[in-house]
Amino acid sequence: MSPGGGTASRVAFGSLAETDRGRRDEIEAAIGRVLDSGRFILGDEVARFEESFAAFVGAPHAVGCANGTDAIALALRAAGARPGDAAILPANACVPVIAAVRQAGVVPRLADVDGATLTLDPSGVERARTPETRFVVAVHLYGGVADLDGLADVARAADMTMIEDCAQSHGAEWRGRKTGTFGAAAAFSFYPTKNLGACGDGGAVVTADPEIAARLRQLRQYGWTRRDFAASEGWNSRLDELQAAILAAKLPRLEEENARRRAIADRYDAALEGLPVRRLSIRPGSLPARHLYPIRAPRGRRDALREHLARRGVETGIHYPVPLHLQPAYAFLGHRAGDFPVSEEACASVLSLPIHARLSDDDVELVVDAVRGFDFGVVEGAGA
Ligand SMILES: *Cc1c(COP(=O)(O)O)cnc(C)c1O
Repeated sequence: MSPGGGTASRVAFGSLAETDRGRRDEIEAAIGRVLDSGRFILGDEVARFEESFAAFVGAPHAVGCANGTDAIALALRAAGARPGDAAILPANACVPVIAAVRQAGVVPRLADVDGATLTLDPSGVERARTPETRFVVAVHLYGGVADLDGLADVARAADMTMIEDCAQSHGAEWRGRKTGTFGAAAAFSFYPTKNLGACGDGGAVVTADPEIAARLRQLRQYGWTRRDFAASEGWNSRLDELQAAILAAKLPRLEEENARRRAIADRYDAALEGLPVRRLSIRPGSLPARHLYPIRAPRGRRDALREHLARRGVETGIHYPVPLHLQPAYAFLGHRAGDFPVSEEACASVLSLPIHARLSDDDVELVVDAVRGFDFGVVEGAGA
């Protein structure tokens, strides 16, 4: 999240201030261009960014919207979700995923994740399915790629439509194709901390289907097909010109920044080998975006490890502390502790180490040394 938090961290979890000279100039030029144009909503900047982002993902259409949560809700609705339909989503995810499903008027059906990647387990999807379940939301959590083959098989067999949540996976690939090209539609967030982040809120839905794209364009602006004419009921969820211009300025560096994230992750992988912390498995055939680098601490030791790292000046995060089925807001779903044991265990043990494109090699070594310096004690049942 945001740097700081009161303590003088030596290695901040994130770095959002645009202090990088070349990049600062490009962002300021983009902002200046919009101010000069006097057009702030749905103009050339949004159209241009949509085109370049679609090209980046390798999909025919990208439709900008206000944020990633709206993008998921818009994707569901544009892909045909009607009130009363249900959608399966992982219990190990952040709150916006379930908030978006509800926003779309869709009934959330939670399912557990697999213990190696912490993404949706296709066999859990099969168990969670009801006759009303028409959608599966594949969340590429942490920038790792969900089991797209397995999920597509289950979805096909049960006549469900797959939607991808790519809010953490900009640029990640499965068998050489980017995430966002496998579902009927894919939601992206440009929240400032994401791999591609705006200087404010932003989102997009990507699709290969021209009818879905047309519905998205209506839905994001009051259901209008032309000014002041509503063909369908819609929302207001637009990407604004300033954010689009900023995103277009930042997009050309995304691949390079993802490569830096992967290099850092590789270094962490090598350095943590042999320690009693579990690392995330990267699915063979995938290229992760490494949005986050969660490790799993030995049972009951996560908070002590986190405090130890904080004392050594290393800021960490927890993604996520509470699984969706145990969030008070969703108690009405009727779940209880024990329903999704893999997600519960993940939430109790995950700790995210700093990983971002501007983290220096020295910072990475400082993190590595700090983790190695923790007294893991005698740990039973741990292993990589
Ligand atoms: C960030 C995020 C969202 C929500 O995006 P916002 O732009 O914050 O609304 C949805 N899903 C996942 C997996 C995310 O990481």
